[in-house]
Amino acid sequence: MNTVAYNVEKNNNLKVAKENVDASRAYRYRLYPDSKRQKEIDEQIELARLLYNKLLEKAKAEYQKTKSFEIKKANFNRFLKEAISENREYNRLYSQTRQNVFVRLQRAYQNFFRRVKEKKAGKKAKIGFPRFKAKGRYTSITYPQFGFRIDREKKCHMLRMSKIGGVKIELHRSIEGAIKTMTIKKEAGDYYAVFSTVSEIVPPKVRDTNPIGIDMGLNTFAMLSDGRKITKPNFAKKAEKHIARWQRIVARREKGSKRRDRAKLKLEREWQTVNNQSNDFVFKAVGDLLVTGYTSFAVEGLRIPNMLKNHRLARSIQNASWSRFIQVLSSKAEEAGMGITVVDPMNTSQTCSECGQKHAMSLSDWTFSCDCGYSADRDINAARNILNRATAGHAGSHARGDSATTVQQESQVGSLKREHTPYEVSTISNVEEAHTL
Ligand SMILES: [Zn+2]
Repeated sequence: MNTVAYNVEKNNNLKVAKENVDASRAYRYRLYPDSKRQKEIDEQIELARLLYNKLLEKAKAEYQKTKSFEIKKANFNRFLKEAISENREYNRLYSQTRQNVFVRLQRAYQNFFRRVKEKKAGKKAKIGFPRFKAKGRYTSITYPQFGFRIDREKKCHMLRMSKIGGVKIELHRSIEGAIKTMTIKKEAGDYYAVFSTVSEIVPPKVRDTNPIGIDMGLNTFAMLSDGRKITKPNFAKKAEKHIARWQRIVARREKGSKRRDRAKLKLEREWQTVNNQSNDFVFKAVGDLLVTGYTSFAVEGLRIPNMLKNHRLARSIQNASWSRFIQVLSSKAEEAGMGITVVDPMNTSQTCSECGQKHAMSLSDWTFSCDCGYSADRDINAARNILNRATAGHAGSHARGDSATTVQQESQVGSLKREHTPYEVSTISNVEEAHTL
């Protein structure tokens, strides 16, 4: 295994000496970006600064209208949406990083209110209203928990970041605890990564009384074994149209020409947009799932060979979202003390979830019916098989409650890696790579 253990997607598997204290620490490492990545980082920081100022401008305008400094999160969300629709460049920021820009502005506002209060209480306090950031006064971007990982390569470690790429990092000491955020900083022309961590407080394991199986549906984004579903997001369809259009344009234009480069850039932007939308969708879907009352999750791994064979754009976008969904669900479920198992997706649609018999199913068969009398929506049957594989035994799996099995399967989730499992979690950037350049 050539990935360092603090791959963020699985940072909950980091085991550190447990004292039940919430000790946060920061680790700072020097980065050595090549000139291309330097430019990329500089651009990202600059974009974040412009966005910060744009949001502040909107917040100030809001004050002119309402005469109230109190600004709700919903307003900031609206400002963010407006800013993006006014300038699509902001889509080049990783969605979570973008989110962090307004978190910073919110913090500036909170500090402002605190100082106002202090002043009212008679304390000496300088009331500084949140200010626009001049160039050089906004020097970092933050990845909150996702969008980056560290790989060990032959001679060095590489920090890989969404929207920026790989940068050599000097890991002079190892990171302990769960990584909460990662900030890229530029100081006097040098680049640093600062990881803030919290020593892990092991969440109490939730008693597994209500496990649920989740199938990547044919007609839905996901079908749950109890018949609930997560409907397909509509962005994939729209994105497919836009992307296909720009792909055609790129293909048409002369190689090496300026016009082709411009079209390529447009195409890249379209991918970035869908990437961000996918992220937002996945975080929301996982958030909803976690508060529904389920106590553990069984999901199917994605078969990469199938995915590569399948050139349909909408499908690959959905596959990438599915991978992301598994990553986020794994991390969030474990944080909440719930188990998650990724099972082999082989034949989940063809097997009867009631008696285990196999039946050929074509993609047009919407209902699964078996001689044993069982009949159900094909996706529900598949979701039940996924749940069966994770818990009680049909396909030779172990009985429910076998804790050794559970632990083993859980740690398998933590170590889903390209080279080690037949089905794996890919990221949307795989799709980007496959389709853009
Ligand atoms: Zn049957």
